[in-house]
This record gives sequence, structure tokens and C-alpha cells, in this order.
Amino acid sequence: MWKALTTRPELRLNSEATGKPLKGLEQRKWGETAGAATASRTMDKEYVGFAALPNQLHRKSVKKGFDFTLMVAGGPVLSTGESGLGKSTLINSLFLTNLYEDRHLPEASARLTQTLTIERRGVEIEEGGIKVKLTLVDTPGFGDSVDCSDCWLPVVRFIEEQFEQYLRDESGLNRKNIQDSRVHCCLYFISPFGRGLRPLDVAFLRAVHEKVNIIPVIAKADALMPKETQALKQRIRDQLKEEEINIYQFPDCDSDEDEDFKRQDAEMKESIPFAVVGSCEVVRDGGTRPVRGRRYSWGTVEVENPHHCDFLNLRRMLVQTHLQDLKEVTHDILYEGYRASCLQSLARPGARDRASRSKLSRQSATEIPLPMLPLAETEKLIREKDEELRRMQEMLEKMQAQMQQSQTQGEQSDAL
Ligand code: GDP
Repeated sequence: MWKALTTRPELRLNSEATGKPLKGLEQRKWGETAGAATASRTMDKEYVGFAALPNQLHRKSVKKGFDFTLMVAGGPVLSTGESGLGKSTLINSLFLTNLYEDRHLPEASARLTQTLTIERRGVEIEEGGIKVKLTLVDTPGFGDSVDCSDCWLPVVRFIEEQFEQYLRDESGLNRKNIQDSRVHCCLYFISPFGRGLRPLDVAFLRAVHEKVNIIPVIAKADALMPKETQALKQRIRDQLKEEEINIYQFPDCDSDEDEDFKRQDAEMKESIPFAVVGSCEVVRDGGTRPVRGRRYSWGTVEVENPHHCDFLNLRRMLVQTHLQDLKEVTHDILYEGYRASCLQSLARPGARDRASRSKLSRQSATEIPLPMLPLAETEKLIREKDEELRRMQEMLEKMQAQMQQSQTQGEQSDAL
């Protein structure tokens, strides 16, 4: 994209292809003669500088920094809640940071009665002068409890609350400085020990698939042989299709991309669900090369080795190639869907009166919360205008009466 813009021939004043000056660039400055304009163009090596436009955007974006909100979810490895799926380990490995320093892990017995909570952690990562504000939304307790019915509801509510907040901010006065807390992506961890998605996984994914970009991952993939991994991937892909669960769809690769990029893109798409291994340990492979990995008696599983797992593909996709697309899909499709249903519910007959609005706002989180503030403001404005109109009408009537009265008085005096 950048490359294409800087080399496009039509951006030159004197197009190399045609040898003719471009139409829009023939304009002269006030008072400048055609000859002077031509001379200055020739001196300028026939280059205006549009090619530098991307640099302006680049500088502006770098100055502003980037933000990204990532959610991690997924039940325990075993249905008894004995061990996590390696979510925190993977996140630390992905971003090379310790986001879970302050984490308190409950005992296995306490986990059985634990309910789901939502925890938000933030970290600012800087790399090569580029700042990224990463917010991690964790869902500890998901699937740990013996009774898991509706345990995903707080997650749905949380995602919707962020949409609602954004909608309010967008309709408010300070639109320029909106803090975007919407969840841009949900990494959903699937146990490597099951035979695909469990009913709890299906229920969770169904509840959120139209509200957030889902990227499924097979956790602790070092527990599986390569053949088993492929079989589990296929089973999960089939289940997702059968259950009509929409996961994040990679955009099609542009036809003018280079072959290397196209190959990487195809590889990435085929890897879904990504089979990942996480580790916070750096081990020495044969005593020489330090690598992030998990050491076993039979050898070392290297986290960043594409022959061992899909960790690199996941990181490349999440950070290098698709972060912006995930944000755009969140804004253009998922948030727009939410906004449209909000507007629809406002337009429904009866939805505008206060009674039905307060009834709607008490409805469960899975239904659409209404943006009360903008509507209230609009109603207040309408009431004020109505009042103004009524006063003007009264004044007009008074003036008409006075005019009529003076007219009759005039007629009477004429008659006398
Ligand atoms: P969380 O509760 O889902 O955040 O899980 P943790 O990251 O705390 O990991 C739980 C346990 O699994 C820890 O003992 C980790 O060392 C281990 N673990 C994490 N990732 C992996 C992995 O990829 N493979 C294996 N075999 N174990 C892992």
C-alpha cells in the first residue's frame, strides 16, 4: 500500500507515461503568469510532493499511539477446574511482558464455587518508537464452577456496555477525545484434551459471535501429536460451521501483494484454530541458543518454532498484519450492528415514551440497552421548542386582536 502510493506515476506533475502535465496541477498562483508557472515547475523537477502524504499520516498515528483491547476466555483444561488453559502464560509470551504480576490464584476447591468475573489490565508497550496501549480483559472463573449455566452472561454484558459507552460518547459533545474501550478481539482457548468444542464452548461462542471478533486457539498444543492436532483442528472447524458460529474472517489478500506475503497469508488462514504453546521460560537448546520453550525429558518444545506450534502465526496476525483490520471490523460491522439495533428499538412504536423506555432499560443484558442520554436531550430540546412556538402563537393572537380592535375603532370614528 505504502509502496504503491510512493511510486504511482500519476502523482508526478509531468506524467512519465503521457509526457503531459496533469490537469489539476495546471493551476497557477494569483498573479503568476503561465511562463513563470512553467519555469518553477521545471525547476522543481516536476515533483509536487503528494508522495509524502502517507508520511503525514504515519507521523500523526505514531504521535497519537495505538490502542487495542484483547479479551481472553475459555474454560479450564478439565471440567473439574484444576488447571488453567495457559491464557496468562500465552499473553505474557505474546507481548513479552508480565501482565499478570498481581494475579491471585484461588485453590482448586475454591474454583468449584467461583463465579465468572471480568478483570481489566492495561500495559503500554513501546517498540521502535511506536507506542501501543494494550488492554487485556480476562475472564477468570469461566467454566470453573460446577453449575455453568448462563455463566457467559457477564461477558456479553461487558462487551455491550463498552458499545453503549462508545455510543454515548459519540453522541456527546466531546466526540474528538473518545476513549475506545470496545473489545477488538477475543482469543478463545479450547482444551487440547477434549474431542472438539464442548457444549460450554459452543454456548459461549454463540452468545458473543456477533459482538466480538473471535479467534479460536487450541491451548497447550504440546500435549498433542501433529496428527492429533490436525484432526482436532478439522473437528473444531466442522463444529463451528455446523453451529453457524462466525469467527473472525481474514480479509482477502490484495492481488498486487508479493508472493511471500500471499504465502504467509494463506498459511495463516489454514492454521485456524491456532494450536499454541506458551512459556515464560527461556531455555537453552542444547546449551547454545536461548529459546522460549518448555523442556521435557524427551526434548524441548520451542514456542517460536513454526514446526512445533502456530504461536508465530498467531502473533504475526494479531500484531503485525491484522490488528488494524480487527479494529475496523469492530467499528464498521460489530459496533454498527449494535448501533443499528439500538436505533431500531428507538423507532419502535411506544419505545419513545418514558414508561416503555425505563422498562426496556431494565431488560436483561442480552437485550439491547438504549442510549438514554441523547434521547433525553433531544426530548428536552423538542419540549423547549414547543414552548417557544406556543408563546409566539399567543403573541400573534394578541397582536391580531389589537389590530382588529384598532380597526373597528377607526371605522367607528369614520362613521361619526
Ligand atoms: P490460566 O489460568 O488459563 O491463565 O493458565 P496459566 O497460564 O496460569 O497456566 C496454567 C498452567 O499451565 C501453568 O502451570 C503453566 O505453566 C501451564 N502452561 C501454560 N501454557 C502451557 C502450554 O502451552 N503447555 C503446557 N504443557 N503447559 C502450559
